[in-house]
Amino acid sequence: MTRQIPLPDSKPPRLGDFPYDRVEVACNKCGRAGRYAKAGLVARFGADCTFLALRRHFESTCQRSNDIARLNEVCGVMFPDLVRWQLGSKPST
Ligand SMILES: [Zn+2]
Repeated sequence: MTRQIPLPDSKPPRLGDFPYDRVEVACNKCGRAGRYAKAGLVARFGADCTFLALRRHFESTCQRSNDIARLNEVCGVMFPDLVRWQLGSKPST
């Protein structure tokens, strides 16, 4: 039995739509990985914050994005749970 998680139509995914309690953040460039409470992110950025904007925020705080000599290998932040959501899967926990 698969639980269907409704996706937002054509709108970019926003924090407020996110179905899981925690948002996993991973960067394959700097090795950053962690989980953030969705409630905390909503309190900080607002439920209307898109994952694109959230990604920019994490990229801007990535150690590599401040290294001008390595601009071609700047942060590659991604949200594994966002993919799971779009695939209709369950969170990793
Ligand atoms: Zn990074």
